[in-house]
Amino acid sequence: MNLRRFSSPLLQKAWIPYFILIFTLAISVFTMYFAGVETRQNDELRFRNIVERTQGSFSNQLATYIALLEGTSGLFAASTSVTNNEFAVYVDRLNIRQQYPGIQGIGYVLLIPETQTYALVESVQAEGISNYQIWPEEGMTERAPIVYIEPLDEKNRIALGYDMFTEPIRREAMLKAAREGGPVMSQKVKLVQQDANDPQAGFLIFLPVYRGGIIPPTPDARLAQLQGFVYSPFRADDLLRGILGAEKSPQIDFRVYDGEVKDENLLHDSQRFGPFSPQSYSPRFRDFQSIEIAGRTWTIEYMTNEAFDAASDVWLVPFVLIFGLLTSGVLFILSQAQYEAGRMAEESESNLHYIAEAGKILASSLDYKRTIATVAKMGIKHMADWCSVDLIKGENVDLIALAHRDQEKIKWAKKYRSQRPPVMASKSGLAQVLKTGKAELYTKVTDRMLRSAADTEEDYQLAKSLGIHSVMIVPLKIHRRTIGAMTYISGKKNRRFTQMHLAIAEEIAQRAAMAIEHARLFQESEQAVQMRDNFISVASHELKTPVTSLKMYLQVMQKQLRKKGEYDLESALTKMDAQVNKLTNLISDLLNVSRIQLGRLEFHDEYFSVANTVQEVVESVAPTSKKHKIHISGTIQKKIYGDRDRIGQVLTNLLTNAIKYSPHADQIDIFLLEDKDTVSVQVRDYGIGIDEKHIGKIFNRFYRVSDTNEKTFPGLGIGLFISHEIITRHGGTLSVTSEKGKGSTFGFVLPKKKLRRS
Ligand code: ADP
Repeated sequence: MNLRRFSSPLLQKAWIPYFILIFTLAISVFTMYFAGVETRQNDELRFRNIVERTQGSFSNQLATYIALLEGTSGLFAASTSVTNNEFAVYVDRLNIRQQYPGIQGIGYVLLIPETQTYALVESVQAEGISNYQIWPEEGMTERAPIVYIEPLDEKNRIALGYDMFTEPIRREAMLKAAREGGPVMSQKVKLVQQDANDPQAGFLIFLPVYRGGIIPPTPDARLAQLQGFVYSPFRADDLLRGILGAEKSPQIDFRVYDGEVKDENLLHDSQRFGPFSPQSYSPRFRDFQSIEIAGRTWTIEYMTNEAFDAASDVWLVPFVLIFGLLTSGVLFILSQAQYEAGRMAEESESNLHYIAEAGKILASSLDYKRTIATVAKMGIKHMADWCSVDLIKGENVDLIALAHRDQEKIKWAKKYRSQRPPVMASKSGLAQVLKTGKAELYTKVTDRMLRSAADTEEDYQLAKSLGIHSVMIVPLKIHRRTIGAMTYISGKKNRRFTQMHLAIAEEIAQRAAMAIEHARLFQESEQAVQMRDNFISVASHELKTPVTSLKMYLQVMQKQLRKKGEYDLESALTKMDAQVNKLTNLISDLLNVSRIQLGRLEFHDEYFSVANTVQEVVESVAPTSKKHKIHISGTIQKKIYGDRDRIGQVLTNLLTNAIKYSPHADQIDIFLLEDKDTVSVQVRDYGIGIDEKHIGKIFNRFYRVSDTNEKTFPGLGIGLFISHEIITRHGGTLSVTSEKGKGSTFGFVLPKKKLRRS
């Protein structure tokens, strides 16, 4: 199964998650930056709009107030004598307290020479204001007392009769207005109607009233025609608060200065009345504007306040950043997880591959040193940087495989190992695994571990220079006996062995141990076979000589007994001779077997008639069984080239087997066949037959069918082995067909063509 299929190939690159992180972070920062710029631009625009709107309100409001004064001045222009009462009615109609916030009232000032003061006082008192006085008592030659002021509340009443020429600021403004023939605003003043509980900056606007009702053309003529002034005192705070009063929570604050921006010129500071504490806040935007009213220039400082910021999208900026950071983080974690999953899948696949391949290689050959070396090499391809295999050999540890990518390093490590073999007394590492048979896993090799594992300072320095980061050692065990160990070392920080790697290493170690065990068992059995063959070879040789001389003496004794006429003893010797013959055949068979093994079976080739040989063998074997009738059918004309005795030996073997393995039958058929190139002899019996599962093996050396039934038949299991060898060496084939319980047909086919034996 290809596990990689489940993850996108791009995500198998380790740098991709970091790229995603940096990329998304960059996008977040850019977005934040642009969102910041955008909101700042929007806010600035919003601020400008508010400033412009407020500026407009200022102009409109003050223009309305001036128009109000102009209307009032019209009253005096229309009639030469306006009574106190008429004035009161007029002002009352205007309903100024409600309609025009900030106006303290509307008054009328009459300009009179000092000499006429008394007359004026009298006439005003006559109009009903009984306590009317001009004050201060001392004034200039020309006096400008307030004659009327409406609404005549308690405060305005104080102002009544006040000679405004006695005060330079007012006087200056009045003269200016008189000269110019239009409204003039005074500098900042302290109003006479000052409220002790609520002191506010004040100013006045004067509008000249000329005798005759029209404005004379020149300043001098205007001064000459000047009758008085219509004027209004203003409380700056009340007036200017009224301007933004319509807005529920104004988003800006402003300070109004009469003239330059100086503390002493401050007319109004809206922050004093707003809900916000100005100390802890620094405005995001600030602007200075000037405004011309009735000949004076006010400077207005506008600044944003907290309400402005609350209405701003500026909070979006950190939000964008936080959102961006979160998204980057999530994407990073996701892509990292994807990468990890892909890597794990790839690793698992590689590990499975390692196990499968290693298993195949270990099973492929009995040369375990070579296969284990290959498995160690595969180890460095799949899991580690170093892979070594050690086997216990008596008191020592034998390094049988060592793999690393760099051949130079292998050479160096082997040399080092030969100079410093592992110390078996060690409490950790290889020696410990070999002693306990328990695997050891050091996922993270620390400096302290290296130091405690090293026997000398030199060893420690060496281990350090190798950069050993992770180690695992797994035992090679056969039936609980530890025969060696496999060591895996990682020299890379990002490749650390885990329980998963350990499980794989153990699986492979188990297979390696099995391969070693198989090789050992095979070697042992090979040795046993070799010993047996040697024994047979020696024994048959040793037996042959005494049996030959035994036979010789038997024949001599037989002759002697026959001469003496002792026929009883002679027939006993004849039986003895038959047994000795059997013994000779057995020994000769054994000799043949060991000759075949050594490749020394001899052949004496000649042209001979197979049909005749069959006939001779039948004649010699037939007497051994009284029960069986042997029937020959077919003929072979052609003589063939080969060893007549050996072919006879094969036929004897087939025929004696046919008799031996058909104890309940009474017939054996021999078929002789001949075709263009071959001759063949088939021996058929009607006996016990051979089970299919044994048929392939009966030509093997010492193979005997060992089923209960067959066990009762004597034999060594070498007759067919020898026959097979003889027929094969003649260039022919020995074959068998058989059915259990029904009988067998053994036969051979020989080529007619003369064989060149090597
Ligand atoms: P053996 O000395 O045991 O007969 P062979 O090599 O001649 O040795 O035969 C091998 C085995 O083949 C025998 O043990 C026997 O089980 C089987 N065998 C050989 N010939 C026959 C046969 N004609 N019928 C049944 N089994 C046979």
